[in-house]
Amino acid sequence: MPRLFVVSGPSGVGKSTILRKLVPRVPGLSFAVSHTTRPKRAGERDGRDYHFVTDEEFDRLVKEGAFVEWARVHLHRYGTSKEALRAGGTDDLLIEVDVQGADALREQVPEAVTIFIKPPAFEDLETRLTGRGRESGPEVEKRLETATGEMRRAASYDHRITNDRVEDTVERLQELVERVRE
Ligand code: ADP
Ligand code: 5GP
Repeated sequence: MPRLFVVSGPSGVGKSTILRKLVPRVPGLSFAVSHTTRPKRAGERDGRDYHFVTDEEFDRLVKEGAFVEWARVHLHRYGTSKEALRAGGTDDLLIEVDVQGADALREQVPEAVTIFIKPPAFEDLETRLTGRGRESGPEVEKRLETATGEMRRAASYDHRITNDRVEDTVERLQELVERVRE
């Protein structure tokens, strides 16, 4: 059975940045591509970052039982499909989900390793989200509001890593994956 590494953290903490760098550095590690109803951002690719689907398609997938878990996060729906878990073959899998997704996966796969990515300080989230420049003011507000609740859940994860410098964080995550595999 491939190992599951479940990664959560507030929006803007740097999850995508870090995981994108981590995957090519660790042999036998794949990223499980989720489905979302969120519009695609500049630079994102369908099938690589997410499977971007309409509300109707998402409804259909839910009805078909295609998801291991799905949740409404911020203003959209996101889900991990059974197919996304199979797509990695024998590779270990990195799964990026929100705190609700992590709860669901922990229940279904108790041996999953859960990791929470924290910002150096809460204020960094606003700086990073604003710096990313992909969400409107109200959307940034919504994400910061959600972040407060998410940060309170950090203690329920097996590991917590602070994303101060990207390279250091990637290094620490790589070490963690290698330690778990030993
Ligand atoms: P998430 O996937 O958690 O929402 P992103 O990976 O999109 O976050 O990162 C949000 C923004 O913060 C991006 O503009 C990214 O370049 C920047 N960023 C990521 N990690 C760091 C870091 N360690 N220090 C400063 N900025 C960072
Ligand atoms: P973003 O829109 O910034 O890419 O992601 C928003 C939030 O959705 C993040 O907290 C991210 O971890 C979460 N997310 C992404 N994919 C999934 C998924 O498949 N399931 C769940 N529950 N959350 C997800």
